Amino acid sequence: MDDEYERLKTEAYKLLSDLDRCVHGRHALDSCFNCPGGHSAGNPHLKPGQVVGYDYTGRPYAVPVVGELRRRADWLSTGGVVTK
Ligand SMILES: [Zn+2]
Repeated sequence: MDDEYERLKTEAYKLLSDLDRCVHGRHALDSCFNCPGGHSAGNPHLKPGQVVGYDYTGRPYAVPVVGELRRRADWLSTGGVVTK
């Protein structure tokens, strides 16, 4: 059970870490020779402030405007930008 829990946590961490990648697999702002300007344009499907779901109390999860994709608190704080 502990091994399975740790495996699932690792998989979730990897997923969250990948959410800023462009369609070519590069993290946002990293070098990407296939994106305009030579830098990764990031995930075209997740825009900062975009609400993607809700927690068990109904608080919206939104793509962090500033902060860290791997930190839950940053998904709960929209930085003042909320899109519906
Ligand atoms: Zn790219």
